[in-house]
Amino acid sequence: MGTDMGCYDTVHFRCPVCDERLEFQTKAGACDLSEYRSHSVPLAIADCMCEATVSCTACVAKIRFRVNQKRVPVFPELMHPGEDAD
Ligand SMILES: [Zn+2]
Repeated sequence: MGTDMGCYDTVHFRCPVCDERLEFQTKAGACDLSEYRSHSVPLAIADCMCEATVSCTACVAKIRFRVNQKRVPVFPELMHPGEDAD
């Protein structure tokens, strides 16, 4: 549960220039100290990352993030009795 201060999620990625291992910390997601790899990031966090720029700590390259997918699959599923749409 996204409680409060000091909590964040971490996305691990590599610098596209020098391949240094880097981390992006964000409060955009569930903020339960989850760790993600850059190829599998929750949408809320991906949105946040796409608005951010970071610098590589090793080669000082400026890095931005892109989502290469403008459309995502959705899946119809049966709602259970008594389950309201939220
Ligand atoms: Zn680098």
